[in-house]
Amino acid sequence: MSPFPQKSEGLLLLDIIQISQQLEKDEKFVRQAIRLQKCGTEFNTFMCGCNFIKISKKCNYRICPVCGKIRSIKFYKKFIGVIKKKRIARSIFDRGLRLLTLTIKNQEDLEGGINKLYESFNKLKRREYCKHKLVGGLGVIEIKRGEDGLWNHHIHFIIDSSYLDMKSQKKTGKDSKLVQEWKKCTGDSGILDIKRITSHAGALNYVLKYLTKGIIDLTNEEKALFFKLTFQRRLLFTFGKGEFYNIKQDKERRVCPNCGCPYQYVVPHSEEDELAKAYFSPSPPPRERFYWF
Ligand SMILES: [Zn+2]
Ligand SMILES: [Zn+2]
Repeated sequence: MSPFPQKSEGLLLLDIIQISQQLEKDEKFVRQAIRLQKCGTEFNTFMCGCNFIKISKKCNYRICPVCGKIRSIKFYKKFIGVIKKKRIARSIFDRGLRLLTLTIKNQEDLEGGINKLYESFNKLKRREYCKHKLVGGLGVIEIKRGEDGLWNHHIHFIIDSSYLDMKSQKKTGKDSKLVQEWKKCTGDSGILDIKRITSHAGALNYVLKYLTKGIIDLTNEEKALFFKLTFQRRLLFTFGKGEFYNIKQDKERRVCPNCGCPYQYVVPHSEEDELAKAYFSPSPPPRERFYWF
């Protein structure tokens, strides 16, 4: 049985209708919508040295309830080893891992807001104040609807840094050095927050949950818009120096546990495909057995 909750087909269908109504003339977009709608319902055949196997076709879209969750799990596996090698800052003056949130003023334009957020952060990294303090980190962009109806963009980071001045704000009522720096980068507002980390896993789960969190709260219409405007945009990124911030996603090759051969894609209507059909034909095994992600 799949370890993941079943997606709500009804919800997905509603999304598709919204997407298609808005964009029915955009062929590429309709194709994407159909891919989302069909996610998990069709199968590709693969073969190894001893067997055939069916693997469900996944859409890999962030707004897909199933694929969004799988993506988060993959990212967790990808980053946890790296994060664990770094020490957690034990006080505000300590060098180490801490959580940082950077926010820009609410935007009318969802995609323009993403650009502004990236540009502002790139400026911040290059500021004299941050250049030596910010060693590296992992950021996840969260976009949600603000109370004013505009889009609220922010980045949740796990950063490896030395002391970042947040305190003076409370003491003097003036902007702290870090807020001043962030305001210079955004050109207008500068809201930010720094939090202590208690555990590596907790911190990573905290930032990764923002990959899907905001989307859940959106209406179907907003979800469709979000899908269109963020399609193939990277909302998770790493920065900094050193091997460990540049982890490349290894394309994992699935290997048969029996014969040790990597699974190879079976081209439809090929000779192998005919063999596979014969193999699966008289009494096909239960579908759940083939739920591979
Ligand atoms: Zn095998
Ligand atoms: Zn999917």
